[in-house]
Amino acid sequence: MLSILRHPLAEHIITHLRDKTTKPATFRTLAYQITLMLAIDATRDLETEPKTVDTPLETATGRVLRHQPIVVVAILRSGVCMVQPFLDVFPDVSVGYVGLERDHETAVARSYYCKLPPLGGRRVLVVDPMLASGGSASQAIGVVKQNGGVAPRLVCIIAAPEGVAEVSRHHPDATIHVGVLDRALNARKYILPGLGDFGDRLYGT
Ligand code: URA
Repeated sequence: MLSILRHPLAEHIITHLRDKTTKPATFRTLAYQITLMLAIDATRDLETEPKTVDTPLETATGRVLRHQPIVVVAILRSGVCMVQPFLDVFPDVSVGYVGLERDHETAVARSYYCKLPPLGGRRVLVVDPMLASGGSASQAIGVVKQNGGVAPRLVCIIAAPEGVAEVSRHHPDATIHVGVLDRALNARKYILPGLGDFGDRLYGT
């Protein structure tokens, strides 16, 4: 299932991320802000329970989050920038990392690094800013499932239709949360209109 963030602020942030004149420091701030919005959107079905508190004026019964462990799994390298916004709103989040590289002969992504907290019984969100061909994301979700993760969610800032189709084909149980769905990939597997190489824009490389 695909869930697209529909909010004027999200459009505003993504347009500035796309702008090639946006400098890395501003790019990092915008990436933080849009990920924060995605983190909120991708967790809108978290369970809550009633809690009664005393305001300075009277007693009020509201709701608070029920304890339910969340794991964020970042795909190296660009996914790392999406971890902090999750930590800032969900302080008890556990974080895992998956490093993938493309085998130039087979064109298949291979895992060269994997450090994951326990995943069983936890809500798992795999984060990677750009969902292009979907190879890395599918592979990372596969790694999460092999390690006990059930129905992981994928959270991306920009997605191409090709990547959404590839992930959905391999993992029909995975919900994909995106900031925007772009037009297509070019011959070099960059997203169009996209924003170029996310890691380069982030780190000024
Ligand atoms: N990764 C990027 O950083 N940009 C793209 O357009 C596609 C994949």
